[in-house]
Amino acid sequence: MRDISFDTIRDAVAELSVQACCRLPEPLLEAMRRSSRQEASPTGQDILKQLLLNADIAAKEDCPVCQDTGLAVVFADIGQEVHITGGLFEDAVNAGIARGYTGGFLRKSSVAEPLFERKNTGDNTPAILHIRLVPGDRIHLRLAPKGAGSENKGRLFMLVPADGIEGVKNAVLEAVRQAGASPCPPMVIGVGIGGNMETACLCAKRACARDVDSRNPDPRYAELEDELLELVNGLGTGPQGLGGTTTAFKVNIEFCATHIASLPVAVNINCNAARHAEIVL
Ligand code: SF4
Repeated sequence: MRDISFDTIRDAVAELSVQACCRLPEPLLEAMRRSSRQEASPTGQDILKQLLLNADIAAKEDCPVCQDTGLAVVFADIGQEVHITGGLFEDAVNAGIARGYTGGFLRKSSVAEPLFERKNTGDNTPAILHIRLVPGDRIHLRLAPKGAGSENKGRLFMLVPADGIEGVKNAVLEAVRQAGASPCPPMVIGVGIGGNMETACLCAKRACARDVDSRNPDPRYAELEDELLELVNGLGTGPQGLGGTTTAFKVNIEFCATHIASLPVAVNINCNAARHAEIVL
């Protein structure tokens, strides 16, 4: 067994919070640069250049890329040979979120209860925490802050096998078309196929948090990612919804086993500020 302390996890999560909100991943910046050269609309080109300038200023001045620093979504892969000392893992993650969002002057966007009081928790906790137990003696943490403008446009389609690949394509296009300008395009689109109602959504979220230069390891799904990107960019929504050929930077797909009579498809849309940061402890 390998010991990893509460304090180590808390400090890592605090650092990831600031890093994710203030510095966009390099593959995303590269996609923005490429798109700014390839975008057909002059307005779209201008918007992409402004997004790059904004990202540059945010990184240099350690300020958030966007004012909506989101709910803190944390993916934690915990090795089975890890022994966490000094407190509970979930408490350490939340202590890190509180420290990072407070110390980093990041907006606190979390309300404790959704319907009546909607009182802000004041420190952006609790994190949305997804834990997997994996082999080994390490902890892999990926923090992907998610703003509401894009999250609110997520969709779940409970298709049946007869809907097939065309059904999946139609579902993704319907979600993107209806999202319009709300998720601040160009988007990064996560598609979860299979599982049941909740795992399809989790697959889509994991897909959304992948880098834009990644591909599904199964060549059939990688090809579908490319095809969907082309279809989505053919919708003409364009940067910030003002028209153009860059509606999305990337479509990422994750899939999992499903019922013989089901074909769930979840679409989780991320915005141009498709933020994430990771660390291995
Ligand atoms: S959708 Fe993204 S870029 Fe737009 S306001 Fe929300 S977090 Fe910011």
